[in-house]
Parts: sequence; structure tokens; C-alpha cells
Amino acid sequence: TMSDQIERRILVTGGTGLVGKAIEQVVNSEGKKPNESWSFIGSKDCNLEDEQAVRELFSKLRPTHVIHLAAMVGGLFHNLAHNLQFFRRNMKINDNILAACDEFGVIKCVSCLSTCIFPDKTTYPIDETMVHLGPPHDSNFGYSYAKRMIDVLNKGYAQEKGKRFTSVIPCNVFGPHDNYNLQAGHVLPALIHKAYVAKRDGTPLMVYGTGKPLRQFIYSLDLAKLFIWVMREYDEIDPIILSVGEEDEVSIGQAVDAVVKAIDFKGEIIYDKTKADGQYKKTASNAKLRKYLPDFKFTPFDVAIKQSVDWFVENYETARK
Ligand code: NDP
Repeated sequence: TMSDQIERRILVTGGTGLVGKAIEQVVNSEGKKPNESWSFIGSKDCNLEDEQAVRELFSKLRPTHVIHLAAMVGGLFHNLAHNLQFFRRNMKINDNILAACDEFGVIKCVSCLSTCIFPDKTTYPIDETMVHLGPPHDSNFGYSYAKRMIDVLNKGYAQEKGKRFTSVIPCNVFGPHDNYNLQAGHVLPALIHKAYVAKRDGTPLMVYGTGKPLRQFIYSLDLAKLFIWVMREYDEIDPIILSVGEEDEVSIGQAVDAVVKAIDFKGEIIYDKTKADGQYKKTASNAKLRKYLPDFKFTPFDVAIKQSVDWFVENYETARK
């Protein structure tokens, strides 16, 4: 087809992070098309909070397509402490990127929202039409409102300028190259790191909260494949949820069990119930995704956890932690 012959220069912001590294791995191992060239950039290549630096980056690379992943991200406890920073820094990054996409004639930009930005008080399952239907959970209001504004910008660029800027909504992502920091990390990488230390030191594994909250987790390499599909094929402005199904939701307690099994930790597990649980659940529907890709196979949770644990153990010295 025509679109297979037109040269595509694809810029991936946040290319050094969890999702960016996974996209790079999939592109290198199975995904590259002859008419595509890919650039993966991190904060050392360009500080995306700096408008002029972003314009220089775009004038140098002249991307035709952008996958915009870069963001200030973190787990529940990091968000609780830094809502203002999460809002301001992410607003700046997103506004700079979309303005540059407009100015430099980018054909398609795919940005990244998150299922944790949805309204706190809602009905389940959550779907793509509900992004703005009520305030987000108070613990991460800064991050959430900044993400929601991406959808506002995409609408504006479509209506006033005919641009095709869209967004995806992943559930919780985990995998190699995650942030395994014990304070700033998301629940799974932080758990994997804690279990590693508990096993090494022969100490109990302390888990924050009751273990009852339910979450949908997507393996970064599965998400990467879906991101590449969205960049190539998905033509709506409205967002699409990229998540495992409702039936694949697991409790934090079940996730703890999977991690403990994968790392072969035999010690005591203590749930610290004085610590915050966060939202009890935020079950998202992947019906829209299933309508487009009925046959997509997700990696089973236990297999993906095992691969992530093995990666962390093998890369302990250099992993982000
Ligand atoms: P990571 O923390 O692993 O990576 C963040 C990336 O953003 C890194 O490449 C980092 O660069 C880059 N970055 C951060 N600040 C700047 C800046 N000022 N200028 C340039 N680059 C910057 O994040 P993830 O891969 O987990 O997240 C990718 C996207 O997916 C984000 O938009 C996030 O909100 C979203 N998302 C993530 C989920 C998850 O569970 N992880 C769930 C749902 C959505 P460097 O490496 O140089 O610091």
C-alpha cells in the first residue's frame, strides 16, 4: 500500500524508560518496516520542559510520527508528596511536544494517558468515554489532570487545525527497565525489589496496605506491540484503553504471591495495614481494543512476572533503583 512506501521518521520521547525500552526491543526484534526509522530519546538528549530545546530537537530530527511517552511518573507515595510538581512539569512537557508536532507538521502523535487518571467515584468497568466525568483520586490529582489535558489538546488540535494527535490509556505497566526504586517506584517493581532484599537479608517482606486492592497489569512488551499498532493503524483522535481484560484483574496480594514465587522467597510476609491502599480498584474495559484486535494474546501474568524478576536479578547492579 501507499503508506508502506512513504518514509516514516518516528520519534519516541521517553525512549529510555520502561515503555520506551520495550518498544525499542520489539522494533529491533520483530517490528521494523523498511520505510521506518526510529529515534529513542531520553532526558539527556533533550529536556522536554524547555520549549526551545524541543523545537531544536524537532527541527533536527524532522519526525513524521511521534510516540510521546516522556513524563514525570511515580508510584502512590511519590505522587502524594509531589502533586504540584507532577502537574506543572507534565503540563509543560505535553504542551511543548504537541505544539512542536503542530509546528513541524507531524502526521500523527500518540501520547500516553493512564487508567489511574479516571474519575475516583465512577461505575465499572471504566471506558474511554469517561476520562473527564469527575475528579480523579486525590492522591495523584496533579499527574491526573496534566494527563487529562493531553486529551483536551488533542481535541483542540483536531478541531482547529485538522491534526491527528491521539492518545492511549495503559493500565499499570511492568517489565525490564522499570523504576525499581523502593519509594518512587510503582507497586510491582517496588515489590520485586523488596522481595529481593528480603530474600538476600533473610528479613520479612513488608507490604504496604491490606493487599486487597485490585489492579490490571500489562507487561511492557505486550504494551509495546499495541503502541506500535496504534502508531501504524489507529486513526481516531479519541483515546483507546490498552489493558488486559477485566477478567485478568489481580489483587495486590495475588501479585505479592506471584513475585514471591518467581524470586523463590520463603520468609514471612507482613501487610502493613497502617499504610494507604490507594484506590480500591479502577477496573478498565478493553472492549474497544478487542473490537480492533480480537486475537491479540497477552503474556500470562506469572510468565511476565518471572521474566521481570529474572531481568531485575540479572541487572541488579545497573537497574534503576
Ligand atoms: P519511565 O519513568 O520508565 O520513563 C520516563 C521517561 O521519560 C524516561 O525516558 C525519561 O528520561 C523521560 N523523561 C522524564 N522527564 C523528562 C524530561 N523533562 N525531558 C525528557 N525526557 C524526560 O516511565 P514509563 O516508561 O513507565 O512511562 C511512559 C509513559 O507511560 C508515561 O507517559 C507514563 O505516564 C505512562 N504510563 C505508565 C504506566 C506505568 O505503570 N509505568 C501506566 C500508565 C501510563 P530519562 O530516562 O533520561 O530520565
